[in-house]
Amino acid sequence: MKKTLITGAAGFLGSHLCDRFIKEGYKVIGMDNFITGDKRNIHHLMNHPNFEFIEHDVTEFISIEGPLDYILHFASPASPIDYLKIPIQTLKVGSLGTHNLLGLAKAKNARILIASTSEIYGDPLVHPQTEDYYGNVNTIGPRGVYDEAKRFQESITMAYHRFHGLETRIVRIFNTYGPRMRLNDGRVIPAFMGQALRGEDLTVFGDGSQTRSFCYVDDEVEGIYRLLLSDYAYPVNIGNPNEITIKDFAEEIIKLTGTTQKITYKDLPVNDPMQRQPDITLAKKLLGWEPKIGREEGMKLTFDYFKNLTKDELNKSEHKDFKGYINK
Ligand code: NAD
Ligand code: UDP
Repeated sequence: MKKTLITGAAGFLGSHLCDRFIKEGYKVIGMDNFITGDKRNIHHLMNHPNFEFIEHDVTEFISIEGPLDYILHFASPASPIDYLKIPIQTLKVGSLGTHNLLGLAKAKNARILIASTSEIYGDPLVHPQTEDYYGNVNTIGPRGVYDEAKRFQESITMAYHRFHGLETRIVRIFNTYGPRMRLNDGRVIPAFMGQALRGEDLTVFGDGSQTRSFCYVDDEVEGIYRLLLSDYAYPVNIGNPNEITIKDFAEEIIKLTGTTQKITYKDLPVNDPMQRQPDITLAKKLLGWEPKIGREEGMKLTFDYFKNLTKDELNKSEHKDFKGYINK
């Protein structure tokens, strides 16, 4: 039975990855320090014979007993509100945390996949984004702590691959959504759905002409799984190329949720990318992968999840009260 370490296991993507690897018959060690995660995301796995959980901050030395076959490094704050609130931790988990995990992979002779992001392209000047585009990132802007940590993460991963011959994989994840996102993490889908459910107006930042392309979590996990098992060490975009403006997206959510609320416009956060769409030619060719779940179906599944949250959870409006988003 192959053994896999998944960091960020109590988070949105990490918990879905734990489910997938358990389903495929792996032994899974989940690791998390709960800084942006939630115990409830892995509660159902806690008594599973093939699941073990270690509460640990991956920026500190990591010790695992016995052999390991795979490591998936998904620990990192992932929403703009989170990385503005905890900028140093964000830089540390992408740099020191990744270094520790690469060292562990080397010691165990394990294959490691690291979670990179479309944010390494910054506010892209090439559209759609291909893997050979170097990006347009403001190193000292408010998003720089995340973007540059992820760019460093890619560089150190390639250095371990080239210098130590380590088996490495790099996935560049584009906006992914689904059940278990944190309602108050500030990302656009939980933000809009929370607002609709609480009977508040939907807050569109800027004039809403900026675009994103949303991928349902099951499709993302399938792409990541295939990439891990491939023999390709360079970065691969995994996302859904179906692009939409944020204003049109808010209108879709108004229809889906049946809310009678309207859209209100707020300032656009600094360095908010104006357009984002993955070019997935490489993933199609290399992995035979493309997304299967359209936005309509994925959004229904996601709304069903948020609808079932308690009133208490809904009323935690950290997103609304957060003052640090519009930064100089
Ligand atoms: P999330 O916040 O739900 O999950 C991240 C998890 O990492 C949390 O459980 C958190 O507690 C944990 N964590 C953070 N720092 C840690 C540390 N030092 N030690 C141990 N655990 C730590 O976010 P997510 O959306 O699931 O994102 C997971 C990964 O995927 C991140 O690396 C993120 O950058 C990447 N990613 C996600 C998206 C997306 O759309 N969801 C897009 C691009 C990249
Ligand atoms: N956004 C918005 N209203 C919100 C939250 C986000 O208009 O309440 C916008 C945000 O400015 C960005 C897009 O939605 O243009 C996606 O934001 P998110 O934080 O989900 O992800 P990212 O910017 O990292 O792609």
